[in-house]
Amino acid sequence: MKSASGRLRIVGGMVFDGTGKDPVQGAEVRLRDGLIEAVGLASELPSLDPEVPVFDATGCTVLPGLVEAHFHSTYFNVAALEDLDIKYPVEYITLLSSSNARLALECGYTAARSGGSLHNIDVWLKKAIEEDVVPGPRLVSSGREICGAGGLMDWNPEFRKIGMEGLVLLINGPAEARSAVRKLVKDGVEWVKTYPTGDAASPDVNDHHTLCMTAEEMNAVVETAHNHRLKVTGHCRATEGIKNALRAGYDALEHATFMDQEALDLMLSRDVPAVPALYFEKASIERGPEFGMSSRVIDGHKETLEGGIKSARMILEAGGCLGMGGDYGFAWNPHGDYARELTFFVTDVGFSPAQVLTCATRNGAKILGRENELGTLQAGKLADVLVVSGNLLKDISLLENRSNIRAVFQGGVLKAGTAMWR
Ligand SMILES: [Zn+2]
Repeated sequence: MKSASGRLRIVGGMVFDGTGKDPVQGAEVRLRDGLIEAVGLASELPSLDPEVPVFDATGCTVLPGLVEAHFHSTYFNVAALEDLDIKYPVEYITLLSSSNARLALECGYTAARSGGSLHNIDVWLKKAIEEDVVPGPRLVSSGREICGAGGLMDWNPEFRKIGMEGLVLLINGPAEARSAVRKLVKDGVEWVKTYPTGDAASPDVNDHHTLCMTAEEMNAVVETAHNHRLKVTGHCRATEGIKNALRAGYDALEHATFMDQEALDLMLSRDVPAVPALYFEKASIERGPEFGMSSRVIDGHKETLEGGIKSARMILEAGGCLGMGGDYGFAWNPHGDYARELTFFVTDVGFSPAQVLTCATRNGAKILGRENELGTLQAGKLADVLVVSGNLLKDISLLENRSNIRAVFQGGVLKAGTAMWR
């Protein structure tokens, strides 16, 4: 990805640097050649040539670019799950995926971690973004997902005579688990996304308390993935599934819905991060009926929401690492609404705006494995900087409205925001 050349001073804003320090009113963020050169009050920084261009951030919050830690670029706001794998050909989904990536960047997300993708599209989307073919967040890819046969993601009945090849590698036993991971190794993914458990979406045979992979299969996934230096994560709702994942050596948990003390201890002992993606549950409950979601499914989402809120609080209080990602790409939870996850964590889970922003920046970068380059405004890091009108520490929901996004810098290049147009 091309970065800017020369210097830029972002002045007059309230700087939230993501390191845990209190925000500083009127501090300056200096960019140079695509990197952050310095952050601080102008009086503390060396004087600069008056010719250096200035970006006026008065009345704005200046913060690190956001990280969407559970991003499905290829989910096209579907109302029926089975549409995901049969509605459109790969050509069209690739175009939709590219459009979703641009939208995420325009919403202030300068980096994202894929939570699974159709047809290995995210690997190639990442390349297109890195090579400035299309705009989008700096991406960490995961390609097709892995699930046990008959599990949550194996929804096409036998009579349809089609599998799930585009979206999921279905496995039976450790040998097939290894084979699936090896396919992903060849595809070039960085994270392996698996389905240790079911979900409220499938109340009959794969609900949120059902296991969709055996411990042996999960062990085989981790052993093979780690051998090739890939990381492993999984859709983990049921308590036993969470523990299976942690015991197998998973590198992250998606959702971590029904935690107990033993699961928490296992998680903390290796500092395994979790991405709850909880607003999805609230959106399902509130908007699901419009899209024909049954009351049984909605009841399951209510239980998931309640359990997920408890677990997120438990992890935060224990000092665990939480990332912000929202599973966007469903009709009731469409792309573009990413920041609703952040508001939800303040209004419904009880986190402070500073805690949520730290999860969405510094922790996100850590989950991506790029904490040395991204996630905080510190000298030497990439100049991925977001400027938002208003005080986000008072009202985090300002992020939900794109007209408040003044500037999105990636490597010091202004990529999006209202500042592009004036
Ligand atoms: Zn997901």
